[in-house]
Amino acid sequence: MANTLYPESYYAASANAVPPRPALQDDVETDVCVIGAGYTGLSSALFLLENGFRVTVLEAAKVGFGASGRNGGQIVNSYSRDIDVIERSVGPKQAQLLGQMAFEGGRIIRERVAKYNIQCDLKDGGVFAALTAKQMVHLESQKRLWERFGHTQLELLDQRRIREVVACDQYVGGMLDMSGGHIHPLNLALGEAAAVESLGGTIYEQSPAVRIERGANPVVHTPQGKVRAKFIIVAGNAYLGNLVPELAAKSMPCGTQVITTEPLGDEQAKALLPQDYCVEDCNYLLDYYRLTGDKRLIFGGGVVYGARDPANIEAIIRPKMLKAFPQLKDVKIDYAWTGNFLLTLSRLPQVGRLGDNIYYSQGCSGHGVTYTHLAGKVLAEALRGQAERFDAFADLPHYPFPGGQLLRTPFAALGAWYYGLRDKFGM
Ligand SMILES: Cc1cc2nc3c(=O)[nH]c(=O)nc-3n(C[C@H](O)[C@H](O)[C@H](O)COP(=O)(O)OP(=O)(O)OC[C@H]3O[C@@H](n4cnc5c(N)ncnc54)[C@H](O)[C@@H]3O)c2cc1C
Repeated sequence: MANTLYPESYYAASANAVPPRPALQDDVETDVCVIGAGYTGLSSALFLLENGFRVTVLEAAKVGFGASGRNGGQIVNSYSRDIDVIERSVGPKQAQLLGQMAFEGGRIIRERVAKYNIQCDLKDGGVFAALTAKQMVHLESQKRLWERFGHTQLELLDQRRIREVVACDQYVGGMLDMSGGHIHPLNLALGEAAAVESLGGTIYEQSPAVRIERGANPVVHTPQGKVRAKFIIVAGNAYLGNLVPELAAKSMPCGTQVITTEPLGDEQAKALLPQDYCVEDCNYLLDYYRLTGDKRLIFGGGVVYGARDPANIEAIIRPKMLKAFPQLKDVKIDYAWTGNFLLTLSRLPQVGRLGDNIYYSQGCSGHGVTYTHLAGKVLAEALRGQAERFDAFADLPHYPFPGGQLLRTPFAALGAWYYGLRDKFGM
């Protein structure tokens, strides 16, 4: 049987030690079978276990193998489309509920880290950096919007102030969110997996769900075993493939790339990001970066529509890093990797139920570290019969990409090219 390892990344190289986890080789029975051990699956499993459910998690590769173990590690609040856009699309009542939830994911992460003593280099403070006056105006209105939903840990930064938090001359200003922040993402996932097991949950690695037998008593099949469950949670996101064809139709896996420098040393690291905040710029095709626990710079950016792996990641990302930080021209890149997130046309997550007992959440379209933690809670609430918050997500409208499975990639790339041009010319 294939043994799928982590891709070579800084995170895999600096992961906390974990026990080996077996592949499923039996028939087992449980209350909830969770497919996928990323944040969505692990967060669901934890909330369910805390509420008395028996949980079995099937992971095709290893815990955090997908986006959850490869991402930029930025705790970014709200969704990939902001609440005002949601409000225009679904009306004030549903938007109110979604707006109230938009800042909960970051709190859940912090609660988990504290409760289960997860060692994942958690740091507070995230900056949205404006490259143009227009982006600054947008941040001002975003601050007013978020404050309307009770989120008040925000500070607008003028040109002088942003230069105090990041040594980059490109920005005209920004916004600091002290409830944002950053983590070592793989170590967060590994810590959450250990918490699942500490509560009696079981995680099988190298155990892809290859078929779901639907019906009143659903069964999930792996190559060497099966799980009989009352409920199934599908949490495979961009790595799910075609296991559930209804879900593949309205979403598209996209690749994004990350590089990590050699350790910079305390002095150079402090010169770049004196308060150790993470930063993302306000472009549609955005750059994001932060320091690691051992003072490297992790820098990400760019999107490959259709999730093809680029041949030379450093050649794509390093020039972006040097544009922001020319002072790093002699710094060596130690790691470069790619990972897939799942894009939806609206850039809002797809949440729902198939039949009576198969639940899913996927497609947070790039910003998912906080949302996926919230999703676990909302899915667990729905399984307990409290579906008001679940329904607020499930009622969001979703449409297939124009061009169907064949043409969706070029169409989406064309759309991104257009927005990339707007970024470039500050439109
Ligand atoms: C490079 C990169 C950088 C990012 N940076 C940020 C960031 O800084 N901030 C932010 O908010 N978001 C970021 N994101 C997005 C964020 O990481 C994701 O939204 C989030 O991790 C998705 O979590 P998930 O659990 O839904 O999916 P995943 O983490 O992808 O987990 C899905 C899991 O399901 C497993 N699986 C799939 N199919 C099966 C099957 N049939 N059987 C069993 N298991 C299966 C996979 O192996 C995988 O482990 C980034 C994404 C990428 C790729």
